[in-house]
Amino acid sequence: MTESATIQKELDVYAIRQQFPILGREVKGKPLVYFDNAATSQKPQSVIDALLNYYTSFNANIHRGIHTLAEEATAAFEQTRDAVKEFIHAGSREEIIFTRGTTESINLVAYTWGRQNIKEGDEVIISCMEHHSNIVPWQMLCEEKKATVKAIPINDNGEIIFEEFEKLLSQKTKFISIVHASNSLGTINPVKKIIETAHKKGIVVLVDGAQSTVHLDINVQEMDCDFFAFSSHKLYGPTGVGVLYGKKKLLEAMPPFQGGGEMIKQVTFEKTTYADLPYKFEAGTPNIADTIALKTALDFINETGKDKIRRHENELLKYATAQLEQIPGLKIIGKAKEKVSVVSFVVDNVHPQDMGILLDNRGIAVRTGHHCTQPLMDRFCIPGTVRASFAMYNTKEEIDELVKGVQRAVKMLS
Ligand code: PLP
Repeated sequence: MTESATIQKELDVYAIRQQFPILGREVKGKPLVYFDNAATSQKPQSVIDALLNYYTSFNANIHRGIHTLAEEATAAFEQTRDAVKEFIHAGSREEIIFTRGTTESINLVAYTWGRQNIKEGDEVIISCMEHHSNIVPWQMLCEEKKATVKAIPINDNGEIIFEEFEKLLSQKTKFISIVHASNSLGTINPVKKIIETAHKKGIVVLVDGAQSTVHLDINVQEMDCDFFAFSSHKLYGPTGVGVLYGKKKLLEAMPPFQGGGEMIKQVTFEKTTYADLPYKFEAGTPNIADTIALKTALDFINETGKDKIRRHENELLKYATAQLEQIPGLKIIGKAKEKVSVVSFVVDNVHPQDMGILLDNRGIAVRTGHHCTQPLMDRFCIPGTVRASFAMYNTKEEIDELVKGVQRAVKMLS
């Protein structure tokens, strides 16, 4: 049996597809081909049911109530914290903080750890391939503190140049915030090596796991990152929920992010004392329903098997890359050795936007534009790319449709 056939056998994609009701719909009279998974993934029926079940069976505010519904809602909410702890192999549940998403998780660190620790003249290092969510919060912080943001350069394959990273490190470097897997290129960065190098110099590191958490095994203790951020909606869970993992010692020393209910021990007009971790960072009523349904999404991934999913997605990535590369005038942007299942490309004399519209006419959803990575597009001297990003439910037949769609679009547009 070929390697490809073995992979197909171990993961029954057609059975998986049955669990995602949206995949049965048509777009513009054609079966939907959903290749915009890096923006947000589709949701299995079990996640949709978890949301419905919460609102129909035990909707209540959490933590404060003593009635049955409040206790059930609190227990379900806190079970997600335990599930997240297991999923990313954190040392303790107190290190798991719920936010609105990766963006808020990064902002939380910039506003709290950043404001407390970054001083005039200090430097924060990011990379050339960061999402705007991992650029702008550091620029805002550095502007306020008269500090500087520096970006690690990348090579033409879209990989970090490690020697250049090392050259950027100095006494002034206080923080590094780096993306684990690039949403525009697919590149998987050597975060463990970056963290090891940084820690030797006492530098604190945040890893943006928005794209990596759905594809790779995440072990924050082994990685030894100080902070790790990700969003539920990119891993088959609902929108509006994210996670910030932080090492307990760092979180304990940080001031709160927002003030309000839930995050306090005692309030008087003279003085307020703050709640213990993780609640110190969770002011106000959280997104209860979606947080509860995140556990269902994690269960779904665990039950399917992350290794099997990864092998299937790698197979799709290899297949799509090989097929697309045969199209004259098409150039793949991002050819790193280690990639998640993202293919970005440009075609001579074809604007990505036009390509996107023509593909949509055939029911194929791709993303076009700068993907919230404008500095990265500048690095490659392009306005944007067409990006196809694959999930566990995608198939080679769908990639064939994409390839045909691109070929037709090229004929029409160039
Ligand atoms: N970082 C990366 C690498 C991303 O791809 C994204 C979203 O696309 C984000 C951060 C921001 O995530 P969210 O919009 O869920 O906060």
